[in-house]
Amino acid sequence: MSFIVNQNDRLTVHVEDLTHDGSGVAKVEGYPLFIPGALPGEDVEVQVGKTLKNYGFARLLDVKKPSPDRITPPCHVFWECGGCQLQHLSYEAQLIQKQKQVRDVIDRIAKLPDVPVHPVKGMEDPWRYRNKSQIPFAERDGKVVSGFYKSKTHHIVDTDVCIIQSAEADELMSTLKHKMHEIGLDAYNEKTHRGMLRHLIVRKGKATGEIMVVLVTLKKKFPQKEAVVELIKSVVPEVTSIMQNVNGEKTNVIFGNETICLYGKSFIIDTIGDIQFEISARSFYQVNPAQTEVLYKQALDYAQLTGGEMVIDAYCGIGTISLFLAQKAKEVYGVEIVPQAIEDAKRNAELNGITNAYFESGAAEDVIPRWYAEGKRFDVLVVDPPRKGCDEKLLQTILKYKPKRVVYVSCNPGTLARDLRILEDGGYQTKEVQPVDMFPQSSHVECVALLTLKE
Ligand code: SAH
Repeated sequence: MSFIVNQNDRLTVHVEDLTHDGSGVAKVEGYPLFIPGALPGEDVEVQVGKTLKNYGFARLLDVKKPSPDRITPPCHVFWECGGCQLQHLSYEAQLIQKQKQVRDVIDRIAKLPDVPVHPVKGMEDPWRYRNKSQIPFAERDGKVVSGFYKSKTHHIVDTDVCIIQSAEADELMSTLKHKMHEIGLDAYNEKTHRGMLRHLIVRKGKATGEIMVVLVTLKKKFPQKEAVVELIKSVVPEVTSIMQNVNGEKTNVIFGNETICLYGKSFIIDTIGDIQFEISARSFYQVNPAQTEVLYKQALDYAQLTGGEMVIDAYCGIGTISLFLAQKAKEVYGVEIVPQAIEDAKRNAELNGITNAYFESGAAEDVIPRWYAEGKRFDVLVVDPPRKGCDEKLLQTILKYKPKRVVYVSCNPGTLARDLRILEDGGYQTKEVQPVDMFPQSSHVECVALLTLKE
């Protein structure tokens, strides 16, 4: 309930800001209204939706005075699909908004108004950058639909094209959709728990051109197996790996436990910088390889390695940052909670002939204190935590043992800012923050921050 505006009210408002998930924000006598689709600087006509005590939501009816940065979204399903949030904003303006967003939390949450937040490092061509697509398939009114989910729902927005994924993923998505009934293959129905094809996953090694296709099926045995392999090969002859994953559960989780190779190798190779990575059907791997290189170069630059340093890579995934740093450090210790990722990391180290990187699976907040307790000492600590930020216990370990430099890679500016404040209070100084645009057209922004011990 709000006393300033009421549900269904029609108002014309001035949009002042953009939230971190891409909604416009207007204030009516101080009461914030969130308006998806509206942009800062615009005058818009809206209809008020749900209202809560401290804020409410409104639907955009008409843009009375558009922002000079407003553009026509190039994707025809942008307004329905939940994949991108900012296609209606020019790319230059997206980068400015993202910098502003980071600046804002560094001021407000980290309370560091004097720390430089640099302009966002963006892409020259901010389209078709994703190296992985996970595409749900379903039957609707006797027809196959596939595409991406509408925001916060399980409703598939049917499309043949997604201009942030690879051209090969487009081809496979649309050909399978239109031809799978012809070969007798049907798509999954969530309600009845019947139908064979649940998801199509396409992964591409952008540097090597290798392509993997994964079909997630309800059952292991399906008679159209050979026909679908031939169909995939006819669409993308350069495919190097076709895998089947079996998921017989009633679940939103994409993958099941069993993965079978139907054609070619069971992995693809990609490279970041000089390092090769083997990527299997379920491996975690950064989705924007061009910008990953920019991000890791920034982390390497901040780490200021001369060859003699002992380095920790906390939250290391498959060891991508670790192996990048190992070339310039004495030793790198990587820790990651998913055991499978640690196996990948070890194999990738071997693949590249890197012998000074060590990997251990476990929680960073448990394993790192143990390393210190065993007498190991480190000069540089790199962290790249998930959205919720660093565990409090890990931050306390950093403050106890005080490595000279901390390089903080973050996919969530809010938790980055929170953690910077804790490290500042414990004796570190934040030198600078460099945002990198890993996800053009979306509202996400990645950052790298450098901290050093206060004199
Ligand atoms: N640095 C990697 C991955 C970063 S994503 C890269 O650049 O590719 C964050 C990683 O943290 C995920 O792989 C997740 O599995 C891992 N993780 C989550 N909680 C963790 C914890 N408490 N300790 C160690 N790793 C954790």
